[in-house]
Amino acid sequence: MTPVRERVERDYQSLLEILSRAGHDVRLERARQVYANRDVSLSEIDAVGFDMDYTLALYNQAELDALSVAKTLERLVSERGYPEHILDIEPDPDFAIRGLVIDKEHGNILKVDAGRRVTKAYHGLRAVDQLDRYEYGREAIRQNGGRYHLIDTLFALPEAFLYAALIHKFEARDGGVPVSYYQLFEDIRYCIDLAHRDRSLKDAIMADVARYIGRDDRMASALHKFRSTGKKLFLMTNSGHEYTHAVMSYLLDGRLREYPSWRNYFDIVVTAATKPIFFTGRRPFLELDDHGKITGQADGSLDRGTVYQGGNLTDFEAWTGWASNRIAYIGDHIYGDILKSKKISAWKTVMIIQEMTDELRDPDKYREQILKVRALEEELHRTTQELVYESHMGHRVQGVLTSDDAELDAGSLEELKRAALELRKSTERLKRERRGIIADLMELDREIEANFNPYWGLIFKAGNEHSVFASQVELYADLYTSAVSNFLNYSPNQYFRAPRDVMPHEL
Ligand code: IMP
Ligand code: MG
Repeated sequence: MTPVRERVERDYQSLLEILSRAGHDVRLERARQVYANRDVSLSEIDAVGFDMDYTLALYNQAELDALSVAKTLERLVSERGYPEHILDIEPDPDFAIRGLVIDKEHGNILKVDAGRRVTKAYHGLRAVDQLDRYEYGREAIRQNGGRYHLIDTLFALPEAFLYAALIHKFEARDGGVPVSYYQLFEDIRYCIDLAHRDRSLKDAIMADVARYIGRDDRMASALHKFRSTGKKLFLMTNSGHEYTHAVMSYLLDGRLREYPSWRNYFDIVVTAATKPIFFTGRRPFLELDDHGKITGQADGSLDRGTVYQGGNLTDFEAWTGWASNRIAYIGDHIYGDILKSKKISAWKTVMIIQEMTDELRDPDKYREQILKVRALEEELHRTTQELVYESHMGHRVQGVLTSDDAELDAGSLEELKRAALELRKSTERLKRERRGIIADLMELDREIEANFNPYWGLIFKAGNEHSVFASQVELYADLYTSAVSNFLNYSPNQYFRAPRDVMPHEL
């Protein structure tokens, strides 16, 4: 840290202390902060786009899970001929988290780390004790290889739960009914997809929006703050016109005097955008009337006050004239919103991860354990380095001892042999020490994880590593935070600075 920076930090800390003594704790909770994987300056952003579902509209997961589970089970019975006794399955909103991988070959659900190693698995609703017997790692865990399926949106959590619950039920019944694991997954996918498309899920939500979607009182002000510095705002959602209108009205209508309708916040509104195809395809922008009827097709401009359907990136950028690298898009879906826009356009990506609210709540509860983990990880790094060094030395000494042309006198030879023996002993000691550290780390991980999801632990961690979910967030999201309203805590021209990246060889 530079001396100036050090002084600023010190002054800042003492300011915080004075305020806190006076009963004003102005520190920003960690769950409400915006985090940067790459430097982003909001002053260099001219337009901010928003996804709707799980971005502006944060769902009450337990309620939506229960609804999705019920609607999917009904369809499994009516559309796919499953027995009626499955209808008594009770939802368990804790069972699934984002980033899990379904193995359709063995009927397992997996937690996977950034190196694609499986760190935890469930078969049915039971944890798998002996992971080795599945020999994961012989085949790459890929999303589009047919065998594996990644649970990458919160809409899909019920799919993972139902897969486990149905396997559990069938295999426990009558001594075990054989289950076709591939077929079961396809049936669940088909039925939940149908429930999204046949309106049954959306009709139920629209009938009681407040039950399914939380209203964030600070969101309207956060949007206004972006607008107040002259930024253009746009809404781009995969939801259709009617549903978008119902949800957005509930969220924003009449919240601020200057904006009577939700439409007033946005310069462009695009519904049924079919992301990720929006980024790669060339679908036209269809113009809709207030009832969602198609009245025409945009050609050369996208107008404030019109609601569009479909669309594509190429025309969007050409017709708005907004420079690609001066657009930020805020979404929740790692694939449809974040990864595709990052790979295809130069847009800055902001990911909403509402689970962070739970994962960062009450960090004091496990602060001690985290500090111990850090110390142990340093120890692990040290012993690993020493082992590498000793193994290198050992090879060199053995090389000399077994070489025919090493010109050594008897005394030196003896000394070298003694050194080789000491080296072997020390290596054994280091290996024992390292095994101990790893065992302690695993125990601590279990203790820390017990504070979180009872089945899977933290969504960002898998064993000692980043989870595959965390690694995708790191790779594709420039910024991430738990809710859009968190931007209200920052200047609309904020410079978000990423921690300095250090590669292992630089340490
Ligand atoms: P967005 O997040 O605002 O882009 O919208 C997500 C839309 O995708 C919502 O309308 C969801 O109902 C819909 N959706 C989520 N999962 C599925 C699915 O499996 N099949 C069809 N639509 C889905
Ligand atoms: Mg979304």
